[in-house]
Amino acid sequence: MSLSRHLIFIPGACHAPPRLQMATKIIHFLVNGKVERAEFRADCTTEDVKDLFRAAAEASPHHILKLYKANGSVVNISPMLEPNSQDSYYRLEVVASDLQSIGVKSDVDNMESRLCHLETKVQQDAGNTPEIIDNLKSQVESFKRKLESVKHLSWMGLFRDESPQQLSKFPAKAKGLQLNIEEEHREVRKKFLNMSSLRVIEEVRQQLKTPMFDNWQWEEPEMLVLLQVMFTDLDFLTVFHIEVDVLQNFLFEVYCHYNNIPFHNFQHCFCVTQMMYGLIWLTDIWSKLDPMDLLILLTSALCHDLDHPGYSNVYQINAQTDLALRYNDISPLENHHCAVAFGILAKEESNILKHVTTEQYKHIRAGMIRCILATDMARHNEILNKFKSVQPVFDFRNKDHTEVLMKIMVKVSDISNEARPMAVAEPWLDCLLQEFFNQGDAEKLKGLPVTPFMDRDKVSKPSSQTSFIRFVLLPLFTEITKLFPCLEQHILEPVRRALEYYSDLERATQQEAAAAVANKP
Ligand code: 5GP
Ligand code: MN
Repeated sequence: MSLSRHLIFIPGACHAPPRLQMATKIIHFLVNGKVERAEFRADCTTEDVKDLFRAAAEASPHHILKLYKANGSVVNISPMLEPNSQDSYYRLEVVASDLQSIGVKSDVDNMESRLCHLETKVQQDAGNTPEIIDNLKSQVESFKRKLESVKHLSWMGLFRDESPQQLSKFPAKAKGLQLNIEEEHREVRKKFLNMSSLRVIEEVRQQLKTPMFDNWQWEEPEMLVLLQVMFTDLDFLTVFHIEVDVLQNFLFEVYCHYNNIPFHNFQHCFCVTQMMYGLIWLTDIWSKLDPMDLLILLTSALCHDLDHPGYSNVYQINAQTDLALRYNDISPLENHHCAVAFGILAKEESNILKHVTTEQYKHIRAGMIRCILATDMARHNEILNKFKSVQPVFDFRNKDHTEVLMKIMVKVSDISNEARPMAVAEPWLDCLLQEFFNQGDAEKLKGLPVTPFMDRDKVSKPSSQTSFIRFVLLPLFTEITKLFPCLEQHILEPVRRALEYYSDLERATQQEAAAAVANKP
């Protein structure tokens, strides 16, 4: 992907007939890790130029922007700006915001109190609260909760640090938060059950079968409905005699056991399961594997990160956490995810396996354990090498072969964000880096070894992705594509494009750093 993708344009700059056209200026600048190109007419106003730079930085009108030359000196943002070339771009930084004047927090608080007032008034007049008010209240609550949990929106003044470390310092806050979470879960369950009797349109059912699906368009109760659709459309309810209410209890319990953390949350669980569902249809594997193995694949994807605390195995082991102690440093997280899954299945009301035979249960349990434990990235090469050795002679009747293929399919689904459209994939990278950097910070604070790819002082979006795509994604996706050539267009090509995109960005950043060194007085 070329950098000119980021062209920003002031309307009217180039559309006038050449005869009437004013001279335009082209400015190249680096912002949020991307090199952008701004084009404006020399006769536009200073405010126009500032608005243009604000839009590129995704900053609000209350943010203060600073533009730097390669030698580090600050330049005035105005129509008088000196044009530059792609190789000698400026650097744009959002340095501060005027929080008081943004007023987002008071807007949201106002909205809540007006709704409360309205609710009391309606209750007085009509005797009960109409459903529409209940819906409005839960929408405002859900919106507020989103603003409170997204760190990169902290400039709005709403972000609440609810990391386990932070909460352990404030037990009362932790308890209050627990009550909020339970309330939110009840709300999600109510909506999920209300919606689950509605028919999901065919177009959505089809989109669900491809990596193009955009998870960001859906709320949690809707995702639960879509998961129910996946179980239904794969015929699991009939084949394994699963009652609808048991499936709904199971899905809801799974939802409740994912934590509200930046990356390893219920949305990630949904995406991994949806990718698995897509792979099952795209590869036609549903016609080649035993239904029990299909159930293992989908359920393992669903459960593979249950109760993830947001800190990796390396952290668990170095910090000697309870999980590392319990599992003797052997894949502590994956062992835990799997144990939580079987804890949910141990409860009668959420046990989707309650009508399978003992033999079937044993097979499904062994398969899920194998697949979930295979998601420990420390075992990546071991599993990929095993698959490479069987791939040329792959035989669906050979148990050894199908077992390693199933592990590979869960692994592919687990790390498949970059196979999605850029607009879907990029926010996932922000979430991942937010979680990584939280861990890097915690490691620094505790004096533990800092995991290199989690150090905010050393890692950027492009550097993180170029090595991950080159050394992990491409080798894995290439291997599975040899077995299923149709996956070339669905997962391999998008990943190649993502590599090109992040390599361009990485090069631009390196050139900027080199120019800064060269221009140092
Ligand atoms: P998970 O923890 O989700 O079960 O295992 C997948 C791991 O692979 C993540 O924790 C993370 O370390 C890594 N990973 C997945 N997707 C990406 C990605 O897009 N970029 C990078 N740098 N790492 C990823
Ligand atoms: Mn995962």
